[in-house]
Amino acid sequence: TRTLAIVFGDQLNHDSALFDGFDPARDRVLMMEVAHEATYVPQHAQRLVLFFSAMRHYAAEAAEKGRPVNYVRLDDAENAGTFEGELARAVARHRPERIAAVLPGDWRVARLLEGAAEEAGLPLDMLPDRHFLSTPEEFAAWAEGRRELVLEYWYRHLRRRDAILVDGDAPVGGAWNFDAENRESFGKSGPPEVPHLRRFRPDAVTREVMDMVARRFPDAPGDLDGFDWPVTHAEALVAARDFFDGRLADFGRYQDAMAAGEPFLWHSRLSAALNLHLLDPRHLVARAVAAHDAGEAPLNAVEGFIRQIVGWREYVRGIYWLKMPGYAEMNALGADLPAPAVLWTGETEMACLADAVGQLKRHAYAHHIQRLMVLGLFAQLLGVDPYEMHRWHLSMYADAVDWVSLPNVLGMSQFGDGGIVGTKPYCASGRYIDRMSDHCRSCRYDPGKATGTDACPMTTLYWDFLDRHAQRFSANRRMAMQLKNLGRKPPAELEEIRARAARLRDRARDSAWLPPRA
Ligand code: FAD
Ligand code: SF4
Repeated sequence: TRTLAIVFGDQLNHDSALFDGFDPARDRVLMMEVAHEATYVPQHAQRLVLFFSAMRHYAAEAAEKGRPVNYVRLDDAENAGTFEGELARAVARHRPERIAAVLPGDWRVARLLEGAAEEAGLPLDMLPDRHFLSTPEEFAAWAEGRRELVLEYWYRHLRRRDAILVDGDAPVGGAWNFDAENRESFGKSGPPEVPHLRRFRPDAVTREVMDMVARRFPDAPGDLDGFDWPVTHAEALVAARDFFDGRLADFGRYQDAMAAGEPFLWHSRLSAALNLHLLDPRHLVARAVAAHDAGEAPLNAVEGFIRQIVGWREYVRGIYWLKMPGYAEMNALGADLPAPAVLWTGETEMACLADAVGQLKRHAYAHHIQRLMVLGLFAQLLGVDPYEMHRWHLSMYADAVDWVSLPNVLGMSQFGDGGIVGTKPYCASGRYIDRMSDHCRSCRYDPGKATGTDACPMTTLYWDFLDRHAQRFSANRRMAMQLKNLGRKPPAELEEIRARAARLRDRARDSAWLPPRA
């Protein structure tokens, strides 16, 4: 059967199920750069370059493997601007008898593909994405009948299934989890010397894409200069080696720490390459286990890293496919503010926020604790609509794809799902940031104060958040201590907190930046 095989920008593995039985004499690969996908939310210039450049490199590699690629460039005069439009044009060109695609990373694109195939009167084969360790079906079977979908049990299921760091049925080292060893901060002296991070200089293909992005999307948020992402399989492997050689050993202990002016610390910075499928998660797991076996990295670091890849990454994807499309509509806390402008500009006297947004603009990257405990925390405490926060996320991060951003943002960080991904909201005051970073030392605000002109906005908003949701959380035992402390606040101070928080919210509402959701 003559097949049109679609490769989306986040499906760049050459061993994709799409190529089982692919016949170069008969079949065609279709790859599309379309304006709609680059503009449905405004996107960081580096994110656009990353996707388009990686796609172009992949297409060249596929052609070298003898797979004929029909590649539609963004600047082709005939470009229809949408996946549907380009699919219709490709069908007219190649007259396929069948369309094949691997399950996309976005529910919206999967539906769109079904619609386009129906429109063309062609059968659509939606194939499993073999890049991942698990399938949505396997996750659904695991979830069946469970009252709570706890990450830990899903993670153990996969560790046992694939015999990762296990001894028979028991975990290596006697425990499944070493999180308690993975919460060090850098203390008052700041971090020891941070390892050098391998960067990738743009080649001719990337430079051409950079020129195109600068021309076509002059208003794209974020800096284009300084683009240094790996864009090929070979570069992604070098980036992975750089992490294993230089940072894995201390990855665990510093996993939760933050330091001003240090965007990457001991993190791997591999998420973007992974999410484009330039790296195979199995390879990373095997390398991490090998580092442990060779005594190059301690178990808490190796297990901590594997937990992220095998646990969290597979878990959030399972949640996404299990709960979509309803998941995107969830807003358990009734949060209704737009994402405030400061999340794009970084123009604020809040040192923690300014640092995180500043590096996002420079690198299209923030590490996990900044996402959760600075940027996400600020939005949650303020009361930003969780889907709006997800849209902001898609707009600013190189590694954001719907399946991974939505459960992390709407679920984990904003508690919009009301407790599917986590059993309580990650809410904390400025004191937490003070404990885990050196930001507060250079900030004009005082993390211990909730009222007064130098009160930390995080701290004011924290108490206000608890106050606004006290009723809702009264039955949640994990919130009992926090609510008890709220109960100790004198009524006059609470009044002041409410008034100051209302002013902060008004300011945020007035500074909306994203166009309203279509
Ligand atoms: P490391 O700290 O080195 O971790 C190793 C790898 O583990 C990552 O590369 C990633 O592939 C995986 N991983 C770790 N945590 C998660 C997680 N919670 N979910 C899925 N994979 C995980 N990750 C994305 O890939 N894309 C996103 O759009 C995204 N949005 C997030 C939004 C919020 C609010 C939060 C709290 C987390 C989000 N994450 C997202 C998860 C995590 O923060 C990033 O994967 C990580 O910061 C990427 O940097 P790194 O590669 O240096 O990660
Ligand atoms: Fe952030 Fe508050 Fe600390 Fe300033 S005082 S850095 S606003 S937590």
